Amino acid sequence: MSRPPSMRAPPGPTRREVVDGIAAELQAAGVESPRLEAERLVCHVLGVERHELASSLSSSLRPEDAGSLARAVKRRIAGEPLQHIEGSVEFRDLVLQADRRALVPRPETEQLVDEIARWARSRGSPSASTGVRIVRRPGAVREPLVECALDIGVGGGAIALSLVQERIARRVVGIDTSPEALAQAGENRAAVGLGESVELRLARGSPWSALEPGESFDLIVSNPPYIPSGLITRLGVEVREHEPREALDGGADGLDVARIVAAGAPGRLRPGGALFLEIGEDQGTEVRSLLERSGCWTRVEIRRDLCGRQRFVVALK
Ligand code: GLN
Repeated sequence: MSRPPSMRAPPGPTRREVVDGIAAELQAAGVESPRLEAERLVCHVLGVERHELASSLSSSLRPEDAGSLARAVKRRIAGEPLQHIEGSVEFRDLVLQADRRALVPRPETEQLVDEIARWARSRGSPSASTGVRIVRRPGAVREPLVECALDIGVGGGAIALSLVQERIARRVVGIDTSPEALAQAGENRAAVGLGESVELRLARGSPWSALEPGESFDLIVSNPPYIPSGLITRLGVEVREHEPREALDGGADGLDVARIVAAGAPGRLRPGGALFLEIGEDQGTEVRSLLERSGCWTRVEIRRDLCGRQRFVVALK
């Protein structure tokens, strides 16, 4: 039975008022994009898309949502990454889990996959240099561009799963030293339905120890930990306190893992293969020269991210 009007609870604040209030709180807490994050938190708690929120700003917040929203805002203000609160992160065509077990994949790393895709498309297609090409009908399923890839420091599986899902590689071996990250990668793999194509392996110590004798790849990719140890305390609280340190800390100059990857990659790449590394913005020259000094590569190139920072090194065998 509905209550008589006099006893009805006063309507809660509108969604617009709630977004405004949260944005102000986030801004005061030093969050970089307070309005965007406020909208995303509200969407997350209400279970709506951003366009649905935009078209319903004058409706009022239900009291049962107010508590959950307050808890979410409190977590964000305490420094938890937005994606951890949402529980997911978009990476290229995939929606993956986001939690403490693995690094939340960054937009730069989406670009790393672009770099790989460009290389894979141009490789072994003699027409690439002439401009002659086959135009595919949308929806036509094509063969993967390369047979087998290795992802060192696979984390939650963003790169490895994208390589298979986008038919860049038929099969990927993903290695990590963190059982927690591999558990997340396994769940992501199951959720996106790529079970057979991505093999996950735990490395104890060197990633190379997780490979079989004679195993070789067309492509090796790594987004290794590359932050110098001494700079970890200067990272934002979201990263420093909520993301796995082993995915970030690359030793004294940040290049410990990059060196291990660079040293072992030539011996595991098939002829015509390539190594793709994500690096810190001031590590390009150093990484390029360490690769060049080895004399194992026909070409070594630094590529920039969308912000114009040196972010990737590509070495061709
Ligand atoms: N780009 C990441 C960050 O800024 C670091 C990733 C890494 O070390 N691989 O937090």
